Amino acid sequence: MKIDLRSDTVTKPSKEMLQAMLEAQVGDDVFAEDPTINLLEETVATMFGKEAALFCPSGTMTNQIAIKIHTQPGDELICDEASHIYNFEGGGISFNSLVQAKLVAGNNGRITASQVEEAINPNYDWFAQTKLVSLENTVNRAGGSVYEFLEMQKISTLCKSKNLALHLDGARIFNALQVSKNSPASIGVLFDTVSVCFSKGLGAPVGSALLGTKENIKKARRIRKLFGGGTRQGGFLAAAALYALNNNVSRLSQDHIKAKEIERVLQSCFYVSEILPVETNIIIFTIDQKYSANDFVDKAKEKNILCTTFGKNKVRMVTHLDYTNIMHEIVIKTLPTIF
Ligand SMILES: *Cc1c(COP(=O)(O)O)cnc(C)c1O
Repeated sequence: MKIDLRSDTVTKPSKEMLQAMLEAQVGDDVFAEDPTINLLEETVATMFGKEAALFCPSGTMTNQIAIKIHTQPGDELICDEASHIYNFEGGGISFNSLVQAKLVAGNNGRITASQVEEAINPNYDWFAQTKLVSLENTVNRAGGSVYEFLEMQKISTLCKSKNLALHLDGARIFNALQVSKNSPASIGVLFDTVSVCFSKGLGAPVGSALLGTKENIKKARRIRKLFGGGTRQGGFLAAAALYALNNNVSRLSQDHIKAKEIERVLQSCFYVSEILPVETNIIIFTIDQKYSANDFVDKAKEKNILCTTFGKNKVRMVTHLDYTNIMHEIVIKTLPTIF
């Protein structure tokens, strides 16, 4: 049995999810005639208190569309240095939107309102115009850290007063909400656009949604077509996303408990020098310099546990829907024996 902790994207659709996909009503979504996509968009928009939503093939696409609709070429956006939009989207900020990023060094991926304020360029000819702030919640590269609601609120107020758009990369927003206990709508109201993913912890095979005002989503729809992301009978995929929203949200807390238990075991492993605080389903730890992260990953693989290297001598493990209690028992027993 292979135990795959490389990412929460490795999950496969369950029988029940596949059944929901088989039974989906579909139509041509480029004509906005797919009833299941329309239902998903309405459901997720309402959930976050936004006017409209747009179903897209990936979270990279929803983020990149958001950047495109909030900026003009030559503008600048502000984000944490660990941001997915900056690190893991192929240079899309510059490639798709001809925009540059001002990187801020936050606390495990979380920036503050005062850091944002400092990073805003003054209005002189020689500065790029700051137009957009992008937050990520939870922060993947910083170990699944969760934003404080109050800090997001302060950033939102600041952005409104400075006429800046505010985007949330909420690929794992449902993980964050399990921890912070805020409602989706209380988060939605703070942001101009929100990206949510169905293919991470929620276990759908494909799909993300961008949420915002009717006007923003109308622009986003045009950009989605331009980026090649308009689908036809995509309702089969939207059915999986709807199934995930209805069935796989509250169980995320089980992934968090397992991740905490892995953290506890790693704390007593002699080959671990540091572990980023585990707040949700992501565990990132540094291997002591006497050993190497690559060796760890190879040795774990020999014991049928898959994980990935993640930066300087670091390893990442992610718990998810298909990571069972039995697998967890094996991992807990095996980790101390890797070296
Ligand atoms: C996975 C992820 C995305 C989107 O990734 P896709 O693989 O394109 O769906 C965006 N932001 C974060 C933080 C992610 O972890």
